[in-house]
Parts: sequence; structure tokens; C-alpha cells
Amino acid sequence: MELKVCKFGGTSMATKDSVLKVKNIIQSDNSRRFVIVSAPGKRFPGDEKVTDLLYACYEEKNISGSCRGYFDKIRERFVSLVKELELDFDIIPYLDQVEKGIIESTSPDYAASRGEYLSAIIMAQVLKMDFVDAADVIKFTAKGIFDSEFTNDLVSKRLSFYNGAVIPGFYGTLPDGKIKTFTRGGSDFTGAIVARAVEADIYENWTDVDGFMTTDPRIVNNPRLIDYLSYDELRELSYMGAGVLHPESTFPLQATGIPINIKNTFNPSAPGTMIVKDTATVSAPRLITGIAGRKGFTTIFIKKSMMNSEIGFCRKVLSVLEYYGINMEHMPTGIDTMSLIIADNELENNLDEILDRIRGKVNPDLIYIYRNISLIAIVGHGMSNQLGTAAKVFSALANANINVKMIDQGSSEINIIVGVNADDMNRAISAIYHAFF
Ligand code: ASP
Repeated sequence: MELKVCKFGGTSMATKDSVLKVKNIIQSDNSRRFVIVSAPGKRFPGDEKVTDLLYACYEEKNISGSCRGYFDKIRERFVSLVKELELDFDIIPYLDQVEKGIIESTSPDYAASRGEYLSAIIMAQVLKMDFVDAADVIKFTAKGIFDSEFTNDLVSKRLSFYNGAVIPGFYGTLPDGKIKTFTRGGSDFTGAIVARAVEADIYENWTDVDGFMTTDPRIVNNPRLIDYLSYDELRELSYMGAGVLHPESTFPLQATGIPINIKNTFNPSAPGTMIVKDTATVSAPRLITGIAGRKGFTTIFIKKSMMNSEIGFCRKVLSVLEYYGINMEHMPTGIDTMSLIIADNELENNLDEILDRIRGKVNPDLIYIYRNISLIAIVGHGMSNQLGTAAKVFSALANANINVKMIDQGSSEINIIVGVNADDMNRAISAIYHAFF
């Protein structure tokens, strides 16, 4: 029989109605046997996500020794959810234990993980399924790196004893037993780990949209839905800001090629987007698959005559970034020029110091920075070996009167990245979208 692993996001876990929809989805198909849940998300615009409240609890307890202010909000949410669902089960002891655990914790991860934990305990009650704690089976090394093979072994052995189970997303444990979370949105990753370990036929990722859009619907009205997406395209688009799925979700699935189906809890009959290892055999040919944009980058521009013949020039510049522990996104180069594109959240208030250090290392003729850069990724396997994709992108931008600050195309030819002023980003995305779709 087919085996499906289903992950439900925060909006699916937020209210009585959404939880009952989840119940219907699971119970309408008995191949849906393993369920991964997020913490309850927003119930209405302006509402707070439980995970955000939990991080706030940790901050509060660090300041005052108690987290009562924020924890009362969390209590209220879970108590009323259990009550509305008419579950014959007492959540209070769990909440008391979590509050005590937050007070005693020494990192925010324990607090942050408790939304998923409580959400899974409730969902197990709703579905009358077993609860398997991610803390027992999802493992990190002492350095905090996800231990994929050890975890795969544990999850696969443990779940072989269950016909079905609910597992909280987002966290696991370090060798000393302390809780460690993935990065935000990491329940998607947990779902993929479980799908791999139980050798699922499909990993269904249930969210609150009909699938992956060709671009951001807040920028372009009613953009087309993507029917098929490759793992690599997904990674490029998610990394660049398409928020449907965690950018690393495909890693556990690479070797087996298990497809991910993005589905909508609030419109379950919609086919959604299928994310597969290779789209060549399943989807109609297309030039590009999607467009995504991300704000918040700074460019360091360096010019020096004869730079290209100076052996070790790049290494010296990059050693400065390494010294400060800064991650760089792109490094387009010319004969005598090089630009380093860096996300603003990598930079503290140390840009002047960084520039001085680069000056000291390579003595450039010119070095300066541009701030407020946005990057736009135009993504699709279809563009490789196809003439004219770049021409189409740049004439769309020129026609819209948008100045391009940076261009980068990886040698895999699956994306073209352009940098524009943050103020121009939405117009640029819209212009490119209309040129292709
Ligand atoms: N609840 C976590 C977050 O808000 C993880 C997740 O939902 O995947 O980031």
C-alpha cells in the first residue's frame, strides 16, 4: 500500500476549524500514516505565532526570571484549543512542565520547540494516534550539526513499530539531551527526514496556499501556479524569498527522489505543486519556472588595475570576510573589478572596519559600498542552452526604466540573479513576470 508522510504548517494547526480540517484530510486516506506538525500559527491577520511568543517567553525570563506575561498568552491559546476541540484530555500539566522548563533553560531552543511539542500532543489526541517525540529520534552532533545518518536510522527503526504516529516538527536533541531547533520554518525539514526514513511514496506538505506561485502574489496579482518544480528550482526560489517551503527541505530526499506535494489544507482537492527531482519528463517545456526577490543586501565594490593578474587577490579579500565570520552571497567579477554581495544581517556595525582591512590586504584603487540592494532570482532549468532568456530579462528591466546594479549567472544555468535598488524590486519583478508569463 502507498505510504504518505504529511506535514501540516502553522495555519493548519491554529484553530479548532483548521485542526478539524486536518483530521478530515488524514482520515480520508489511510495511506496518510505519519503526521508532522508545526506550532499553531496566526489565527487572523495581526495575530501572534506561538513560536514567536515562545521566543518572547525566553527573553522575558532572561530579564525578569519569570515568563508569566507571555506564557499566559500561550496557556490561553492551548487551553481554549483543547476545550473547543472537546478533547477529553488535560493539557494543564503539560503547560506547567513547559513553563518550568523555560525558566530553567539556558538557550532559546527549548522554549521555541514547545509549540510543536504541544501541537503534536494535541493532534495525537485528535487523531487517536501515537505521539513520537522528535527529541528521541532527531539528533544533532555536539557541534549542533544535524546528524542525518544517525537520525535516519533511529527514525526508521522507531517508526517501524507504529502503524501511524504524530511527530512534532522543528527540533531534535544534542548528545547531552538538550533540545536543539532547526532554523525557522524547520518543520518542513522534519517532514522530509521522516519521509526518507519510512521510505514514503510521497511527502505531502500541507499549507494555506494552493501551491508554489510563479512569483510573489503580493507583488503580481494572481500569478500563475507552478505545477511541477524541481528540487533545485525549489531551493533557488525558497532561498531567494519564496516562503512556501524551507529551502533545505529537499536535502533528506535527494538520494531517493521522493516527491513533495504542496497542498492546501483549506482547499484539499486542488492538485497543488509537485516537487520532483527532475522535471524534464513530467512537465511541459518552459523557459523559466519562477521569479523570487529578497531585500536587504549590501555590495562592497572593489576596483584595482590589473587585479585579474594578481594571484591570490580574491583569496585575500575573502580572508577578510572569513575573519569576521561573514557569509557572502555572490561575487561577480570583471577584469579589474569585483563586487561582494552580502546580506545585511551578516553585517554588524563593522563595515568601516571591514573596508579598512580589505584596503590593508589588497590596496585597491577604489573601494566603496552600495546599500539597499535587492536580489531577484529568475529560476528555471529551461533557460540552459536556450538563447534569449537574459535578453528578455534585461529588456523588460530597461523598458521599466530600472537600473541593474549587478548580474550573476551560475554555471549551472538554472538561474539569473540581478541586483537592483530595493525601491525598484517590486516593479522589476512585475516587469520580468509579464515578459515571461
Ligand atoms: N514553528 C517554527 C517556526 O515558526 C517552525 C515551523 O513552523 O516550521 O519557524
